[in-house]
Amino acid sequence: MTIFDVAIIGGGASGTTAAFHLANKGKNVCILEKNNSSFARACSGGISSAVQNWFPFNLMPIVDEVITNVEFSWCNNDKIVAKLSGSSPFWIVKREKLDSFLLDQAVNSGCNLLTTFYVVNIKKNSNIWQITALDGRHIEAKTIVIADGSQSPWSNFFKLGPKTLKYAYTFSGRIKRKGNLRNETARFDFGFVKNGFAWAFPLKNEVNIGMGTFLGNKNSIPFEEILQSFITDLGFEPSEVIGQKTKLRIWNGHSNLHGEGILLVGDAASLCDPFLAEGLRPALMSGFEAAKSLSHWLDGNINHLDAYSKTMKNNWGNSMAWGRRIAQVFYRFPKVGYKLGVKRATAPKRIAQILSGEMSYEDIAKRVINRLLFQH
Ligand SMILES: Cc1cc2nc3c(=O)[nH]c(=O)nc-3n(C[C@H](O)[C@H](O)[C@H](O)COP(=O)(O)OP(=O)(O)OC[C@H]3O[C@@H](n4cnc5c(N)ncnc54)[C@H](O)[C@@H]3O)c2cc1C
Repeated sequence: MTIFDVAIIGGGASGTTAAFHLANKGKNVCILEKNNSSFARACSGGISSAVQNWFPFNLMPIVDEVITNVEFSWCNNDKIVAKLSGSSPFWIVKREKLDSFLLDQAVNSGCNLLTTFYVVNIKKNSNIWQITALDGRHIEAKTIVIADGSQSPWSNFFKLGPKTLKYAYTFSGRIKRKGNLRNETARFDFGFVKNGFAWAFPLKNEVNIGMGTFLGNKNSIPFEEILQSFITDLGFEPSEVIGQKTKLRIWNGHSNLHGEGILLVGDAASLCDPFLAEGLRPALMSGFEAAKSLSHWLDGNINHLDAYSKTMKNNWGNSMAWGRRIAQVFYRFPKVGYKLGVKRATAPKRIAQILSGEMSYEDIAKRVINRLLFQH
């Protein structure tokens, strides 16, 4: 039986990114994916163009729309528009297109793909990982990457990631026309969803609609009712939305994302932004960093898996720690947050800069602290 260098559990954004980079470095990799390669994913596809830095190939062919304006509202009123400036615009992609594009790149670089491989058991025997699928198929690997998303049971099983898992409750849907959403404009409404927000992202000829609630365990949010109010302003009927409700794992404190020959990436590693639900950038970042560390580790440099957890803490976690604090205050007092936060002259620009990856929550928090110190 072949012993793979790396087995990647899950062929989503994080898993395919790790797979591409490992295969590209000549490692013998396989992706184990429970679904067939094409299936609908709950995701609105908003992504910073800064992710291009992690790939040697051009991502533009899969970008549906480049966002130049972000419009904020409170219950469809009190609107404010921020222009996206700078070198990192915000893109909207179709998730299914992004994932299959990355998967193709991985497979073309030599990665093996096993679909309908629903992983139900993982154990380690004499330093070799043994992975079994629901249908009894079985593979072995020297290392594993856990990339199976928000419902992953393996982070808890291997005692990696945050001790307590935290979830946002979300709705994601698509409408098969553009309505009156302005060109190149992403819309965020903070008034309709309790402890969260609703959004509309334009695609070439369609619109992605989403809603998320970020505090408490509110799986009973009346998404259908909110949809009725939110999307009529955009020129749509609720009956036009084809959508699904999902539980999204969000960042909940710094944690260890690696063990002996095992790494967590993407949602399985609880990396998703707890304020704005940005999960694609950290999924791609973690896939890229995981591949770098695993490659070194397989080449005999055993300290490198430790480097992965540290890099993710420095490059993502430190910002998320501030994002979580901001979410806790903002979503508890959203009306005040909207008036004093979003409607503040520079605020929309800052939110836009967070979405585009130009600024982190940490940068913004430091600016606010400096301003307060300076004023006193
Ligand atoms: C409603 C909604 C809207 C969102 N909108 C945005 C957005 O606009 N921008 C943004 O940045 N982020 C957004 N996100 C977050 C983003 O979708 C996630 O952070 C991202 O999908 C994480 O990628 P991943 O590869 O870690 O996990 P996933 O994309 O969930 O991939 C996991 C993969 O593992 C497979 N799998 C699961 N279990 C097994 C198993 N046992 N065996 C084998 N395979 C398995 C799954 O089939 C899947 O292919 C949104 C999320 C939701 C819920």
